[in-house]
Amino acid sequence: MKIDCHNHTTFSPDAAQTVDEIAAEAKRLGIGYLALTEHLDLGFPNDKRPEGEPSFDYLVTEKYFDEIETAKKKYGIEIAAGIEAGYTDDSVGETAKELARLPFEYVINSVHICHGLDCYWNGYFDGLTKKEAYTEYIAAVRKSLDAPYRYDAVGHFGYIARPAPYEHKIMTFREFAAEIDDVLSVIIKKDKILEVNTSTGLSGGLCIPDLSILERYYALGGRLINIGSDSHRTGRVGHNYDAVGDAVKSIGFREWAVVRNGKIETEAID
Ligand SMILES: [Zn+2]
Ligand SMILES: [Zn+2]
Repeated sequence: MKIDCHNHTTFSPDAAQTVDEIAAEAKRLGIGYLALTEHLDLGFPNDKRPEGEPSFDYLVTEKYFDEIETAKKKYGIEIAAGIEAGYTDDSVGETAKELARLPFEYVINSVHICHGLDCYWNGYFDGLTKKEAYTEYIAAVRKSLDAPYRYDAVGHFGYIARPAPYEHKIMTFREFAAEIDDVLSVIIKKDKILEVNTSTGLSGGLCIPDLSILERYYALGGRLINIGSDSHRTGRVGHNYDAVGDAVKSIGFREWAVVRNGKIETEAID
């Protein structure tokens, strides 16, 4: 089954496509399982954001669930009403409350903020070597795995590479082997899904995490993966699905993990 488990609509402050638009596009592309995963970034430093950057000080409403129900009926595809919970140490209590307030069907646990700043902002990498910046980021992801709320998947592990100013931006296994092994082992132990995100931005490479990390995950026994385009506008859902599907199959993966009724089920990668 063709799937896409990471997408944003106008219920996120930085996205431009409506629920109806993405559902129509997914249907046209033959995507059978679509997860919408709006931002929930309660630890976001809105007061520090540079001019022109969106504020993440908002919450999704019941209308999100209503629009998804309407689109499911109209297009006849599965659509999970999901959320992408941004992890920070200081916001876990609030995030747990919000996740309990509405019946989210799929939760991605993502790290966007380190040392109090969004790594997309100018100045984030000032004075940091690649080793320093990435080691700090991996440590934040490792902490996020112990979040005291329910989550199903670990989002875009390697996200920091997208806006990084270094010559070789990609976070590869070899460079951070011990730290990455620690993260992957915990993901496996906790039965979480490792997301394969196809939005690599300017970092190059095929996906986030890099294939070298997916190879290591497979070698350690990890089998739960899914794929997400991280689309924010029309024309992006299903991005690079075939190329990434082929790449993970060549590592040995045969199934995508999807969440239905709070449980992980598998679908053949095709
Ligand atoms: Zn994200
Ligand atoms: Zn996202």
